[in-house]
Amino acid sequence: MTGKVYLVGAGPGGLSLLTFRAREVIDKADVILYDQLPGEEILSSLPAKAEKIDVGKWGGHHTMPQEEIESLMVRLASAGKNVVRLKGGDPFVFGRGGEEMETLRAAGIPVEAVPGITSGIAVPESVGIPVTHRDFASSVTFITGHESEKEESAIDWAWLALSPGTIVIYMGVKNIPQISTRLIENGMDSLTKVAVIENGFRENQRVTCTTLEELPAKAEEVGFKAPAIIVIGEVVSLYRG
Ligand code: SAH
Repeated sequence: MTGKVYLVGAGPGGLSLLTFRAREVIDKADVILYDQLPGEEILSSLPAKAEKIDVGKWGGHHTMPQEEIESLMVRLASAGKNVVRLKGGDPFVFGRGGEEMETLRAAGIPVEAVPGITSGIAVPESVGIPVTHRDFASSVTFITGHESEKEESAIDWAWLALSPGTIVIYMGVKNIPQISTRLIENGMDSLTKVAVIENGFRENQRVTCTTLEELPAKAEEVGFKAPAIIVIGEVVSLYRG
């Protein structure tokens, strides 16, 4: 009988933010494909009886190419295994969960996505920054920082720069100068507040508050490291260290 693949969100870090459903499917899995993003506390809680495969793909170190991860999941499930693909945050937010679901569907493999708490909301929240607030932001846009380096960006920077809501950037650390330039060039106030939160929910968490124009210099000075969430907008004024 064909097994099932669970695309599981592990949340932003720590066992307390893992959902019950995630715990349930993790504990029943025959095989768990993981990377380092869920963090030590969750990874060290994986059941001993499950086969664990480190597909370690984050921060630019792809130990296993995406196509291989997908065909591995198809092979394992076809062989009758229940497979968990464990991901940081939510599997469908910049996690390639959508692509994996399509591949599994095409191969006729049953697939279930298990939601997780996404870092773009929870990491700012953990330092007192709400991504929306009636006085400051009635909308929030989640973007990937990867798009800022592309000439033909899939992001409408002109719209983004002029939209009054909060901007939350995933995977943005490497492209901070381009992000800052693109937003300012397109008309965003250069004094807009920015927070960079590295290693949210971990012992080495660090928060840096600055402005959009000062952001590239701050990046040079501080040397931001992934994983980090960048928040841009008035809501940053609510940060309390
Ligand atoms: N699916 C994940 C995002 C994966 S993309 C989610 O929903 O959260 C990887 C990016 O997520 C990182 O580059 C970083 O921007 C962000 N991220 C994930 N965990 C984080 C954490 N604990 N602290 C700060 N940023 C984090």
